[in-house]
Amino acid sequence: MSVFAVKGDICYSTSPAKIEALNDGYVIVEAGRISGVTRNPPNISVHDYTGHIVIPGMTDLHTHAPQYPFRGLGMGMELLEWLDTLIFPEEGRYSDTSYAEQVYSSFAEAMRKSPTTRAVIFGTIHAHAANILSAKMESSGLVSYVGKVSMNRNAPDYLTEANPLEAVESWLSDTASYTSTKPILTPRFTPSCTDELMRGLGELRKKYDLPVQSHLSENVSEVQWVKELCPDSRSYADTYDRYGLLEAPSIMAHCVHLTDEEAGLLKERGTFIAHCPQSNMNLSSGIAPVRRYMNMGMNIGLATDVAGGMYISMFRAVADAVGVSKLRSVLAEKEEPLTFEEAFYLATMGGGKFFGLAGSFMPGYEADILVLSATDSRHSNLRERLEREICLAGDDVELSAKYAAGRKLF
Ligand SMILES: [Zn+2]
Repeated sequence: MSVFAVKGDICYSTSPAKIEALNDGYVIVEAGRISGVTRNPPNISVHDYTGHIVIPGMTDLHTHAPQYPFRGLGMGMELLEWLDTLIFPEEGRYSDTSYAEQVYSSFAEAMRKSPTTRAVIFGTIHAHAANILSAKMESSGLVSYVGKVSMNRNAPDYLTEANPLEAVESWLSDTASYTSTKPILTPRFTPSCTDELMRGLGELRKKYDLPVQSHLSENVSEVQWVKELCPDSRSYADTYDRYGLLEAPSIMAHCVHLTDEEAGLLKERGTFIAHCPQSNMNLSSGIAPVRRYMNMGMNIGLATDVAGGMYISMFRAVADAVGVSKLRSVLAEKEEPLTFEEAFYLATMGGGKFFGLAGSFMPGYEADILVLSATDSRHSNLRERLEREICLAGDDVELSAKYAAGRKLF
């Protein structure tokens, strides 16, 4: 059984309101899990990062690997125009496995170096390409879910599947060899999927006991379009729920414009909301009412939503979650903005909960550990150093070390 300690200036959430901060402490790891945090030097192997900040790994609850090359483009567009003009033609290229190989290698390498230890990832409709993505994520050392996208309407011919359910089952049979990379059912969103496809995916969810990821209520024109496409549904959320696709474990990205009834339904089902603050800004979607969802006790985490979000780094998602919540509190709803503590919690424990016990250093949590590269002369206290390091980080975060589920990546 592998036992070791990581020494440094330790910060981790124990609740949305509280970050524990301990200078010169030790995080003890036993068999891939945290067994405790202590000030006393333990009599085991110590990975010594004295002077460096040591925090839990972050969970990116929603990102699109095939959109990685498109970060920072199309910033003048809203969601539906952006999909038609830029994203669908790009995703069409993944029928070419050599292209998928090239892009997914870069994506997986960027994820390996990033603050993300766990991720839930969209591929494209192409099963071969999704398998390449799974293989790359498996060798990255991260823990992840990868989904082959399902879509059979309102897309160009090259992204419209004739037999989408058979395609999913055949893809599933190829995913069994991975240990850290699991499959997840991935209807793109309601406008791309007929009722028949949604019903079939609901059946596959039960048959194979699979999680689900999709998009919900991101943009005003999308919400209106769903009303026209699904006149018999009670709401956008109901277009998934009627086929069992909101039941835990499932993730719905965005949820910017949910009605009270829809929010109550997601709460009842235990659905995770992936809050994507930068994407919400870039695609003029709005600002998700995260304070309201937190007050309701909903499952919620943060996400980059590459390429709606430009940055692969979850540090940026933390800073942006605080920023957009302040705009919302002033411009719209008079809701209290998020604190840094709450945004840090959402990026670590909040999203980590989708994977079980992940995103904290409390005993029993999986040992996902980041060692930040900067050292400090300690003019400021540890909590302040943490906030500065996260808020000032760009996309190329430099880490001195990274562990996922107890395994050292570098
Ligand atoms: Zn998305």
